[in-house]
Amino acid sequence: PLARLRDASLLRTDALIGGGWVSGSKRFAVHDPATGEPLAEVANLGAHETQQAIAAADAALHAWRARSAKERCQLLRQWFELLVQHQDDLACLITAEGGKPLAEARGEVAYGASFVEWFAEEAKRVDGEVLQSFAADRRVLVLRQAIGVCAAITPWNFPLAMITRKVAPAMAAGCTVVVKPAELTPLTALACAELALRAGIPPGVLNVVTGDDAAAIGQALCDTDTVRHLSFTGSTEVGRTLMAQCAPTIKKLSLELGGNAPFLVFDDADVDAAVEGAFASKYRNAGQTCVCTNRFYVQAGVYDEFVEKLAARVRQARVGNGFDEGVTIGPLIERAAIAKVQRHLQDAVAKGARIVCGGQPLPDLGSGQFFEPTVLADATQDMLFAREETFGPLAPVVKFETEDEAIAAANATPFGLASYFYSCDLGRILRVGEALEAGMVGVNVGMISSEQVPFGGVKQSGLGREGSRHGIEEYVELKYLCLGGL
Ligand code: ADP
Repeated sequence: PLARLRDASLLRTDALIGGGWVSGSKRFAVHDPATGEPLAEVANLGAHETQQAIAAADAALHAWRARSAKERCQLLRQWFELLVQHQDDLACLITAEGGKPLAEARGEVAYGASFVEWFAEEAKRVDGEVLQSFAADRRVLVLRQAIGVCAAITPWNFPLAMITRKVAPAMAAGCTVVVKPAELTPLTALACAELALRAGIPPGVLNVVTGDDAAAIGQALCDTDTVRHLSFTGSTEVGRTLMAQCAPTIKKLSLELGGNAPFLVFDDADVDAAVEGAFASKYRNAGQTCVCTNRFYVQAGVYDEFVEKLAARVRQARVGNGFDEGVTIGPLIERAAIAKVQRHLQDAVAKGARIVCGGQPLPDLGSGQFFEPTVLADATQDMLFAREETFGPLAPVVKFETEDEAIAAANATPFGLASYFYSCDLGRILRVGEALEAGMVGVNVGMISSEQVPFGGVKQSGLGREGSRHGIEEYVELKYLCLGGL
């Protein structure tokens, strides 16, 4: 699939440290999840090279932070333009190594680039304050300064956007960054880095360390005092480990961890709209996004109608290689992901759930990492999906009677990232919107992400927010200057 690249020099397989491409002494293979075929051999770096990248970021910090905000804005803006110009090639890399359908991959490039544009603009608005003084001979200034060298560890499900929404605000604020992309999807990250160099981002401001020993690279990023901020998107389990590893050096942390998004449909909802929202929120990226719905709760009066219409919508989906015309659901990223979907499905069926459509893996299709989009009726709260994130194309639908019951079920999880509900009653919209324990609530809508909004979770779904004007705060420290003797 990489023969499709119009600009073949976007296929970078070496890591980027201090503006130079580093091949390392070992390589690791990146595979196409749709076919299982190897795509490229990428530099396999470890702790030592990570330390070199941290040193390069540190060396670049002073000059980068000293530039005017407008200069940083212009460089980021240039990077944004290049990301947009190369949308097709970047989408090709995303589909090749991540598997999502090409149209979705193009959408990711636009979404990912929008963070660079947004934070280019925000760079100019990191303003300080002059406060009321507390004594006649004093004046009080508050500076908002770049926190320093930052580290970003990113997942495979959005190989571009999860990087830009961390590094763009960091760079805008005047920080330099070391990124460790997911070992399953390093090619997109390296292409982005190539475009950053072409945009004129100075050497060392953005470094990308690739390698398949995530624990070793992660440890090196955590152990040093030089890195002052770690941003991570991935599983709650790894997030917890990284948080512990950052404790000795007291790093500031932004964590976007797992979710277990509920999707509530009330009797007063527009059921057709709910079905469309449900489909979009559940099956995007084959169910592999942290804001994908994991469990549906539908009120008794519209339950049968919703299940039937959702199944009808799902039957229209086409599973296959993301490069093929008309495909709407690609492969799962790994074999283990298929096993997890099967485990959740079998558990639900054993406890009384009914398969309305789908229900089968597709072992003969391509790599064999495909699973039919599935709808399960008669699901109940004691099934595994209620506790664990499935991260696959499985839609269990639970029936409920009262609003209180639905809210309690939705909140009965240690996670709190996204949630969704459909209702046309204004009072209910406000009540339920306030009651759901989540960082983000989609009301009568199944897609909620944008660079303009604060994305993030509560409870064990994480710390901090990405995007919006709040997103840059993660990378800024307040410093108070007290001017005395005036
Ligand atoms: P996912 O379920 O998305 O694969 P992970 O949390 O396993 O979630 O992976 C997200 C990112 O975290 C990837 O870049 C992965 O390489 C990295 N990672 C996994 N384990 C560790 C670790 N022990 N230390 C640092 N990074 C890790």
